Amino acid sequence: MYDLHTHTIFSDGELLPAELIRRAAVLGYQTIGITDHADRSNTTSLVRTLDPMRETASAYGIRLLVGVEITHVPPVEIPLLAREARDAGADIIIVHGETTTEPVAPGTNAAACACADVDVLAHPGLISIADARMAHDNQVTLEITSRGGGHNRTNGHVVCVARAERCLLAVNSDTHAPSDLMEMTERMQVARGAGLTEEESTSILSGKNLPFL
Ligand SMILES: [Zn+2]
Ligand SMILES: [Zn+2]
Repeated sequence: MYDLHTHTIFSDGELLPAELIRRAAVLGYQTIGITDHADRSNTTSLVRTLDPMRETASAYGIRLLVGVEITHVPPVEIPLLAREARDAGADIIIVHGETTTEPVAPGTNAAACACADVDVLAHPGLISIADARMAHDNQVTLEITSRGGGHNRTNGHVVCVARAERCLLAVNSDTHAPSDLMEMTERMQVARGAGLTEEESTSILSGKNLPFL
């Protein structure tokens, strides 16, 4: 079990990293990504702040992926920030995609899918086929999300374009509060509800095809 996309008090989440890690370990996760919102003001410091938490996670028997979610930055800055995060030691780099309910700059999905340093495009909204093709070419994983507030309403579309362009997919919670973390049955419901078959869901939920796991 993995969840690649979560938030702590270092952006707009409710939990300290240690509590988030502990709660995920108790739920049975093997891997948790902590990916607080990042722009030019905090990318390197977020990665450095989380660095010692890998050891805390391993004391609880879970692997921490130290990451960032590059959020609401002008698309031109995305490759620079992804490189900065990687240079600072990030294990996973997420870009906050163009949901249908937020004023994310147009071109964000394209910039993320064109960047080989980006691992995951979160909640990509009504992503185009052309962007999905670039995501495939650059091994950028598209996200199926359980998060409400409009984030999850385009999951079915994301599955359709991902199938057409043979994109990698991951199911994440985008946890901000403790109750956002999913149990295994909920992860399966989110995957199946997005239109994935049981076989596809089992494979995607195992994360076995994800290059960074
Ligand atoms: Zn947030
Ligand atoms: Zn997020």
